[in-house]
Amino acid sequence: MGVLLAGAMVNLPLAPPFLSGLTQEVLVERPPQKGWVLYRVQPGDTLASIANRYGVDLRAILWSSGLSSDRLQVGQEIKIPLTAYEERPPRIPPGVVIHKVRPGETLALLADRYGVSLLDLVSANPGLESLDRLMEGSPLYVPKGQKGLLVELAKGQTLVDLAARFGLSPLEVVRANGVKDPLAIKPGDLVLLPGIQAKTTYQRLLAKQEEERRARLEALRRQEEERRLAQARLRREAQMRAQARPPQVQKPVVRRVSYQEGGMRWPLSGFRITTYFGQRGAFQRFHTGVDLAAPYGTPVYAARGGQVEVAGWSGLGYGLHVILDHGGGVETLYAHLSRIAVRPGAWVEAGEVIGYVGSTGWATGPHLHFEVRVEGSPRNPLAYLP
Ligand SMILES: [Zn+2]
Repeated sequence: MGVLLAGAMVNLPLAPPFLSGLTQEVLVERPPQKGWVLYRVQPGDTLASIANRYGVDLRAILWSSGLSSDRLQVGQEIKIPLTAYEERPPRIPPGVVIHKVRPGETLALLADRYGVSLLDLVSANPGLESLDRLMEGSPLYVPKGQKGLLVELAKGQTLVDLAARFGLSPLEVVRANGVKDPLAIKPGDLVLLPGIQAKTTYQRLLAKQEEERRARLEALRRQEEERRLAQARLRREAQMRAQARPPQVQKPVVRRVSYQEGGMRWPLSGFRITTYFGQRGAFQRFHTGVDLAAPYGTPVYAARGGQVEVAGWSGLGYGLHVILDHGGGVETLYAHLSRIAVRPGAWVEAGEVIGYVGSTGWATGPHLHFEVRVEGSPRNPLAYLP
């Protein structure tokens, strides 16, 4: 049928009776943005069906056509305003809020946050493709009030048709959508169908989720398998290389530094080495010095000249101990002393008495625990001793 813009008057010819069935099929694909169309009433037309076909409020037609009743006569000319529907955004039922999906959000997470069930959330978004992969930034409808199926009213469809399709009374649907008049809901508006759940969609999405979970696990399993194979291959290659080479015995290298080069003298004149550097001891997994057993009270000499850095008690198991600073980042430590003979800050010559053998701190018997440290890390003292 003819559609005319911007208020120009045109007489639409009366359709011959045998064509009246056809003329009812006329659909306005893209309603004009502004103005109105003139329409001549066809047999079978009602004001509601015309209003719905053009997506406008029935009352607006009444008003713009100057009608006092909705009774139409075939051949009657009416004015259909087109602005009302186009200018308002699609309607959303009361109690439904729009959530914009943020990265990493899943349906389960959002259901939990809004305190609704997954099924309710799926029912409000029956077009969802996945429970886990939501499109970032896309709107998700959350039914905070009444729950039900949320669908868009299609063109050419009325709220009454929609209610009937789901076995609901129009009154029930009208109430759930917070309107009084079914015609207040236009094509493109969202309609809440109370109590209807998208169970089939939900089941399908659950099945899909499970399928995706299995696929992820399978991919992980395959990755792990590949990693394991790659490792085994590397091990085999390393073995083959090792077999190809004559075995090399690693000898511990002890660097000896001569006394002239800045070496040290033994801190005791008579002793027996009981624990070497690096050995597992009673109190240390890795022995940081060398233990020299000697009778209680044996004098302990400075292994090299330097300044007394520490002379006192240690909470770390050294007991009474002395630390000498020899410069150049080199320090010596003397632990488990029974008595200390120097004060912090004092300068001592190599061979000067700095204390006496004891068993203070973590010690099982009288001995000197002697450490050499370079830049703070313990070194094998034997490398510095004659
Ligand atoms: Zn020790």
